Amino acid sequence: MNNERQREYPAFRLSLLKWYAENQRTLPWRSSGKPYHVWVSEVMLQQTQVATVIPYYERFLKHFPDVKALADAEQQLVLKLWEGLGYYARARNFQKAAQTIVREFNGEIPGNYDDFLSLSGVGGYIAAAVQSIAFGHPYAVVDGNVKRVLARLFGIEAPVNDSKFLKEYQAVADALLDSESPGDYNQAMMELGALVCRPQNPLCEDCPVRKHCHAFENQLQKDLPKRKARKKTPHYDMVSCVIRHGDKLLITRRPQDGLLGGLWEFPNGKIADGETDEAACQRNIFEKTSLQVKPAAYLTTVKHAFTHFRITVKVYLCDYRDGEVELNGSTDFRWIPLTEIGDFPFPKVDNKFIPLIPKE
Ligand code: SF4
Repeated sequence: MNNERQREYPAFRLSLLKWYAENQRTLPWRSSGKPYHVWVSEVMLQQTQVATVIPYYERFLKHFPDVKALADAEQQLVLKLWEGLGYYARARNFQKAAQTIVREFNGEIPGNYDDFLSLSGVGGYIAAAVQSIAFGHPYAVVDGNVKRVLARLFGIEAPVNDSKFLKEYQAVADALLDSESPGDYNQAMMELGALVCRPQNPLCEDCPVRKHCHAFENQLQKDLPKRKARKKTPHYDMVSCVIRHGDKLLITRRPQDGLLGGLWEFPNGKIADGETDEAACQRNIFEKTSLQVKPAAYLTTVKHAFTHFRITVKVYLCDYRDGEVELNGSTDFRWIPLTEIGDFPFPKVDNKFIPLIPKE
């Protein structure tokens, strides 16, 4: 399909919607259609697979069945229920938006695109998704799945991972949108990308819109979409320290803004060039908490990849030696028994080694 063939659009929409009606997956938020439910699901689904999201979605709604409950919740509980989903700013912003709705919108989720877009953490994608699916307003969503489908349908060569070209994709999506059924149409496009027009080996033989597809017609499925080469992600070696003082362990809280904001962690830091692990433990702990510790035993090594860097973390059990906690960087601390660790939200990295911490 290309832009000159706009007369194909109605037939394209019809085929897509028919396929969606017959093939859509049963997902908990689809049966409800309530704005709050749609919003929770869309916030969680950004950067995260459907299968991962379902149990989180159900647990979240059990604790926070509506905007008011979310607005009134302890942030720590919100983060605890988000633990493992990553991109924690989503959760913090979502709660801020809920508080704004209670304060300024009488507790009602705005069914107006501009008001909704003004809320914390709401960008073009979330606004279009919620406004179209929950309110039937004609806004086209553009996410990774949709960009891939559009690139193949129209032979668009602009790299899908370069935000410079988002406007180009958005313009095509807007023109193609079915403004009569924008919610179903948007979900159908995303579903087509997830189930049929997959990144590798798209199932073109089963595709309801193949007769409109540039990539299929020209056998370009493997060449589209184009991606911009990513810079090599940096890697850091780090230590993380489980500091024991009697039967308590020291945990610290990360600042609200920034990576993993508001989560708790075991104090950690980078290993400097030429530094031994033991020296890195002692230096980092002193710099960040003012405590003197003695590394007593190596526990394990864990690896983790963030969007822009990777880390390898060597974990040490350390014994408290001296000093009072004075934080540099973290915003709070607790000495807790291991039995209470489940009450605090931790990043995935820490959750990889927490089960290995000896009980005694
Ligand atoms: Fe994707 Fe193939 Fe369908 Fe084209 S025909 S939209 S490449 S699945």
